[in-house]
Amino acid sequence: MNAEIIAVGSELLLGQIVNTNARFISQQLAEAGIDVYFHTVVGDNPARLKAAIKIAEERANIIIFTGGLGPTKDDLTKETIAKHLGKQLVMDDTALAGIELYFHRTNRIMTENNRKQALIIEGSHVLPNNHGMAPGMLLKKGSRIYILLPGPPKEMEPMFSQYGIKALSAEVGLKEQIVSRVLRFFGIGEAALETEIIDLIDAQSNPTIAPLAGDGEVTLRLTAKHTDEAVGASMLDEVEEKIRQRVGQYIYGYDSSSLLEELTKLLKEKKLTITAAESLTGGMFQQEITSISGASSVFKGGVVCYANEIKQLMLQVKPETLEVHGAVSEQCANELAENAARIFGTDIGISFTGVAGPDELEGKSVGTVYIGIAMKGRPTMVEEIILGGTRAANRTRAVKFGCYFLI
Ligand code: ATP
Ligand code: MG
Repeated sequence: MNAEIIAVGSELLLGQIVNTNARFISQQLAEAGIDVYFHTVVGDNPARLKAAIKIAEERANIIIFTGGLGPTKDDLTKETIAKHLGKQLVMDDTALAGIELYFHRTNRIMTENNRKQALIIEGSHVLPNNHGMAPGMLLKKGSRIYILLPGPPKEMEPMFSQYGIKALSAEVGLKEQIVSRVLRFFGIGEAALETEIIDLIDAQSNPTIAPLAGDGEVTLRLTAKHTDEAVGASMLDEVEEKIRQRVGQYIYGYDSSSLLEELTKLLKEKKLTITAAESLTGGMFQQEITSISGASSVFKGGVVCYANEIKQLMLQVKPETLEVHGAVSEQCANELAENAARIFGTDIGISFTGVAGPDELEGKSVGTVYIGIAMKGRPTMVEEIILGGTRAANRTRAVKFGCYFLI
C-alpha cells in the first residue's frame, strides 16, 4: 500500500501559502506505517486536477486530497473527483446535521449555499469536521482509496488524526492503532530538554518520543502503536509520567494548547481577574488574551503605557522612580503592576517593561525585560529576564514569560 497526496489550491502554486497539509498528512501516514511516494500540488483548475488524478492512479493505491472542499466557485475538488469516478453527489444527513450543528454552535444563520456543503460523493464514508463546515470523505473504487480533506489546517489536522487515519487503517487492514499526544514545554530549551531525557528518547521505540522546537517553546510528541487504543493510551501515560518526573515543572499543557489559553483557564477556575500595564509589549498581552473566547470573565482591561508620561499619568508611577531607576527597572515594573491592579480593581496586575531593541535604552542592554506580578494577598514579584532575540521575538517571548510566571 502506498499513498500520494494531492494538495489543491492556486495559492500554493503562487507561493502565497506553504503546503503544511502535505507535511502533516505524511507524518501521520509514516507513523501508521503507510508509505508516501509522491506529493503533488495542483491549482484550482478542473482539467489539471483531473490530469493529476489520472497520474496518481497510475502510481498509488491511496490518494489523499486537501483543499477545495469549500462552498465557493473555485472550490471544485469534490465535483471534479465525482465526475472523474462517474459518481453522483448526494445529500448526506450526517454531514447536514454536522453543518447545522456548526452553525448552531457559532450562532450563525445557514444559507442554501451552506447546505450544498453536505453533498458528498455517493458511497463515501463521512469524516466529521468539528472545526468547520465541509465534511471530509473516504471512498473506494476498485482497489483504490480516495480521501478528501478540507484545506484549512485547523479543520484538516483534527479531522485526519481523529477520523481519517482510523478509517484508512480499517480499510487497509492495519491492525495497529496510532495514539499520540503532544506535551508542551516552556522555560527550557530544546537542547537542555533533550539532555534531561536523552536516555528515554534513545530507549523508546514504542512509544516514540520526538522533540520539536519553535517560537520559544519546545514540544514532545509521544506516539504509541497498539492493536488496542486504550492500551496505547496507557503506554503514553507511562512515558509521560517518566518525563514528568524529570522535567514536569516545565510542562504547561497538551496538544495545540497555548500558554495564554492555559492561563485563561486557570484564572477562570480560580475566579480571578487580571489587568495589564504594558510598555515594551505595546498591548500584545491584551490583544492575545482577548483573542481567547470567554476572556471577558477574567480580563477587565489595561493600559499601553509606552511613554514615561503615560506611566505617570495613567498608572501613577512616581517621578522619582523614573528619575532614579528608569522605566526599565524592577521598581517601575513593581509600581506598574500594583497600581494597575488597584486602579482597575482586579485580583492580579501584570506589567511588562524592557528594551525590545534594536537600540539599548537607559544604559540597559537589548533584551532586558522586567515583568511585574501583583497579586492580592501576596508580595509583588518582579522577574528579570534577558532575551537574546530580535525586537519582534523579544516582545512575543516577554508575553509568554509573563503567562508562564503567572501559571
Ligand atoms: P474553505 O471552506 O475554507 O474554502 P477549502 O477546503 O475550500 O476550505 P481551500 O479554499 O482550498 O480549502 O483553502 C482554504 C485555506 O486553507 C487556504 O486559504 C489556506 O490558508 C489553507 N490551505 C489550503 N491548502 C493548504 C495546504 N495544502 N497547506 C496549508 N494550508 C492550506
Ligand atoms: Mg475554499
